Amino acid sequence: KDFRNNVKPNWCPGCGDFSVQAAIQRASANVGLDPEQLAVVSGIGCSGRISGYINSYGFHGIHGRSLPIAQGLKMANKDLTVIASGGDGDGFAIGLGHTIHAIRRNVDVTYIVMDNQIYGLTKGQTSPRSSAGFKTKSTPQGSIEQALSPMEMALSAGATFVAQSFSSDLKELTALIEAGLNHKGFSLINVFSPCVTYNKINTYDWFKENLTKLADVEGYDPSNREQAMNTLMEKDGLVTGLIYQNNEQPSYQDLVSGYSEEPLSTHDLRLDESKFDELVKEFM
Ligand code: SF4
Repeated sequence: KDFRNNVKPNWCPGCGDFSVQAAIQRASANVGLDPEQLAVVSGIGCSGRISGYINSYGFHGIHGRSLPIAQGLKMANKDLTVIASGGDGDGFAIGLGHTIHAIRRNVDVTYIVMDNQIYGLTKGQTSPRSSAGFKTKSTPQGSIEQALSPMEMALSAGATFVAQSFSSDLKELTALIEAGLNHKGFSLINVFSPCVTYNKINTYDWFKENLTKLADVEGYDPSNREQAMNTLMEKDGLVTGLIYQNNEQPSYQDLVSGYSEEPLSTHDLRLDESKFDELVKEFM
């Protein structure tokens, strides 16, 4: 089961997205998938290229719309494991509405956000994850906006799986993606994935100095939502590991009648011309 293909990524050397690609490939193999059982959907941005770099079905969608496509795929074909992916601009700016509604629906999709706190593809503008004071071409005097807190937002929206990791910790990242793929419902994994070209503040060294591993927090219990929220607020969101998981809540698919027995992918959707003519007559 080899999820590598022969396409050479054109990310900058050192970009955090390389690790995310490797972690998806490893995790997919570790959970026992075959390439034809996996679909990777992406949005627009440097990270959006990832769907072309994995040996699976791939769909490079439009800006902020990886989740509608991913949810449609999962609803049509229950046998497909679906990963949606993109950057923080893609998922937390233009696509934020989709992110929140996918979370509350609890559709069985794993969403991996490569969070570099900047827009890289368009050469370095402030994103919804950039910190206040962050200077870029679009905010030369420093951003006057506060950064979005995606993990707190996900907990508030009713997420059943919330995790965060860091590109330089491939072992943890792979394990969290595996756990997300095994979770029955929506899993959100935010990955601190440094943009080495345009973000000179949130660098690998900066994250190494500032991140706390939840595995090292004594008594941390990822089934305790209140503790998860309090810990995120105490640490300003700078934690890695499994933040919260709720295995009790049914997924969207569990609640859709007929989903398991008659998935859309098994229907013959070819148009019967005689029925089409009858239908047209009804409207004439
Ligand atoms: Fe990665 Fe930044 Fe280069 Fe884009 S511009 S490939 S995000 S390092």
